[in-house]
Amino acid sequence: MTESDADMKIVRLKIKRDRPTRLGHPWIFSGAIDSVSREPARGETVLVTDAAGETLGLGAWSPDSQIRVRMWTFGAEGAVDDAFFHGRLSRALAVREGMAETFDTNALRLVNAEADGLPGVTVDRYGETLVGQFATAGAEAHKATIVRELMALTGAASFYERSDVDGRGHEGLEPAVGLLDGAEPPAAIQIHEGKTRFLVDVRNGHKTGFYLDQRENRRLVATYAKGRTVLNAFSYTGGFGIAAAVAGAEKVTHVDLSEPALQLLERQVALNHLPEGQTLRLKENVFQALRTFRDRAQRFGLVVLDPPKFADTKGQTMKALRGYKDINLLGLKLVEPGGILATFSCSGAIDPATFRKVVTEAAHDAGRRVRILHELRQAPDHVEALTFPEGLYLKGLLCHVE
Ligand code: SAH
Repeated sequence: MTESDADMKIVRLKIKRDRPTRLGHPWIFSGAIDSVSREPARGETVLVTDAAGETLGLGAWSPDSQIRVRMWTFGAEGAVDDAFFHGRLSRALAVREGMAETFDTNALRLVNAEADGLPGVTVDRYGETLVGQFATAGAEAHKATIVRELMALTGAASFYERSDVDGRGHEGLEPAVGLLDGAEPPAAIQIHEGKTRFLVDVRNGHKTGFYLDQRENRRLVATYAKGRTVLNAFSYTGGFGIAAAVAGAEKVTHVDLSEPALQLLERQVALNHLPEGQTLRLKENVFQALRTFRDRAQRFGLVVLDPPKFADTKGQTMKALRGYKDINLLGLKLVEPGGILATFSCSGAIDPATFRKVVTEAAHDAGRRVRILHELRQAPDHVEALTFPEGLYLKGLLCHVE
């Protein structure tokens, strides 16, 4: 889509509200907008100016969202056309050059939305299949171009859409799921992380099918697993626990509420040739399971806590903090003296310092002395831009528990 400057609708910011945009932050909230020359269509490219009329860049219009504009370009930089998307996508791939080899995997996040200069666009690669989420009006408007360019750039066999994300509602968009290009992907795609093999169901799995953001953390946690009994709480399809089992854990107990996830887990036990009896699957609420283990005085050498997002917004922070405190307190009580706790939060609304404070309080209440061995983040293919701190959502602590 190319629009000449004359046709383009102009979004003028209020006085003194242009600073974040000048620094490269991609979001413009409705409250920062002074006027709009004519009402743009959903997803239409608009020209953003400061109060004096100086150009700040081009962005996508989201009429239904509090984040009214998401910037595609900054300053006087070009147009939002095919060449623009080709350039952005090429750069995203260049940033990840060599990562598949470095991390010994065939599954990577190729496009990480705002952090790659493409707000609302998330694309993961599982072998020959690309899986995309188009979360915003702007991303939706340019979907066909993005799919075409990425298929050409990567040579992948399929592009499958999983735009069944919460954010689409705020953008006035319906969920969208299905094949966008190429061949139907297999029902379960086999990927590897080092010598660990996983199966990914891109049609029905969470997010785009798998939690690639935990890849490096799974690898690190597994290095502590040998000979230990492992509790993998919020296991999903097995992630941390399968990696721990491959690394020689004595016994691994997975707990999750999702039946399809636990079924895929079972298939991966066989796929990785893990010995019978090493793996135990429990379909149970983790909050309940942790209390049951406590009451039975059952202990583990390594406890992994990787819960879902407890806080979607800042408003839910207090409730989320109570949830994190609760599971960390219980989880810490279950760690054998000299054991390991790997604990995570993927709530973007909770920053690393706050998360650390919660774990500190939990350790105090549990009466355990805890040392941090590693501070953890989302994997490097889930890049974080300096100008967009909101992009950091996953943080964790790997701790020794005395
Ligand atoms: N560690 C996993 C990802 C975990 S995602 C990996 O590396 O792949 C969070 C998981 O928690 C989901 O599978 C979800 O089904 C599960 N879940 C959410 N609430 C739960 C609860 N109260 N009890 C048990 N499982 C829960």
